Amino acid sequence: MRPTVWKIVQQQSEYMKTLYITYTHGDEHPPYEIPNALVANPLAKERNVRYIETDLNRSFGVMTPISYEEKRAVELDEVLTDYDLVVDIHRTTAQTKFCGIVTKSDDAVYALPYGVSAVVLVENIQNSLISRAKHGIALEYPYTYSLHTGSIPLYRVKEFVTAEPHWIDFEETEQGIPYLVNEKAYHGKCFLLEKIHPNINSNFKE
Ligand SMILES: [Zn+2]
Repeated sequence: MRPTVWKIVQQQSEYMKTLYITYTHGDEHPPYEIPNALVANPLAKERNVRYIETDLNRSFGVMTPISYEEKRAVELDEVLTDYDLVVDIHRTTAQTKFCGIVTKSDDAVYALPYGVSAVVLVENIQNSLISRAKHGIALEYPYTYSLHTGSIPLYRVKEFVTAEPHWIDFEETEQGIPYLVNEKAYHGKCFLLEKIHPNINSNFKE
């Protein structure tokens, strides 16, 4: 039996059965009230810590689940399969604009309605939550953000580099565009990006 905290009220959009997930990282408080969201890491939320034993967002699909989060990931896996789209809400302390993260390029289009400034494709993140979903997006809300309208570029992570304090937002550098500088999930590194679509908005509408 599922604990009460798991009670998921299904949210039907017109064509996709959608699940909202909060507190994949227990100290990342959503920017607004999200009704019927599933709390991914209830114990970490209660203690207001990122995780208890291992980063939940790297705890999926391990051969022998041992940590609290690895076991929780097995339970969540079962839930995710019931949905067409999983929206994983994060609150980053990194210096960045509001962005979506996807692990499959086809999923970028699902981030559009949320007002993201860009979508970042990270293909090689193993064991993350959204990679387990049929379709999945992570939304990275910084503490200060505004909603974006207009063209939305799709970037791919070229490499991770050590973060430099002068890299803020989308400031262009010679090597590319840094992103999510000092986001905790990347251990003091940041994404170095290459643009693979100038505007997924128009690209995907056709
Ligand atoms: Zn997070």
